[in-house]
Amino acid sequence: MKKLEERILHDGNVLGENILKVDSFLTHQVDFSLMKEIGRVFADRFRESGITKVVTIEASGIAPAVYTAEALGVPMIFAKKAKNITMTEGILTAEVYSFTKQVTSTVSIAGKFLSPSDKVLVIDDFLANGQAAKGLVEIIRQAGASVEAIGIVIEKSFQSGRKLLEDDGQRVVSLARIEKFENGKVVFGKADA
Ligand code: 5GP
Repeated sequence: MKKLEERILHDGNVLGENILKVDSFLTHQVDFSLMKEIGRVFADRFRESGITKVVTIEASGIAPAVYTAEALGVPMIFAKKAKNITMTEGILTAEVYSFTKQVTSTVSIAGKFLSPSDKVLVIDDFLANGQAAKGLVEIIRQAGASVEAIGIVIEKSFQSGRKLLEDDGQRVVSLARIEKFENGKVVFGKADA
């Protein structure tokens, strides 16, 4: 997605060896017009797939996921990272190691929001080593639902996430694929959409 790549080049900051900071439009402050377009691109890609739910993980997955869900006309569900006393029954959980926070947390979705007839599109802001997406796939499978595809806004292709997910039979569609960081600059590979 050309507009996304241009925005990354303009406003993204490379931190250390493998982190991209995009807090001015995606992970902290949100540019709704860019998110709306991201939602439209994902929706166009998956319109024929019979998607019934979009699933993401809080917090930074929510913005692209909600616009994708709106464009597809289906509900969006986000997995919660903290235990919540209002979630009392039928909780589906998975352990997820956070790449940026370097802690493992239990993420959860109330089972009543997913059923075996659901065809789910997983959306996340970044794909690094694939742990967040893998956890979401585990939860969706616990519900007996199927994962149609995994839509990623920014994939860092030099990390192992895509391989982990594809080895598990998942289809991964990324709007921007970063091949490497070179002298603090982003080098893109060919994106999927
Ligand atoms: P994974 O689980 O694939 O290793 O990492 C994906 C998760 O870690 C995403 O949900 C995202 O929140 C965070 N993440 C991974 N890499 C980056 C990065 O380079 N920048 C930012 N801002 N978040 C990242």
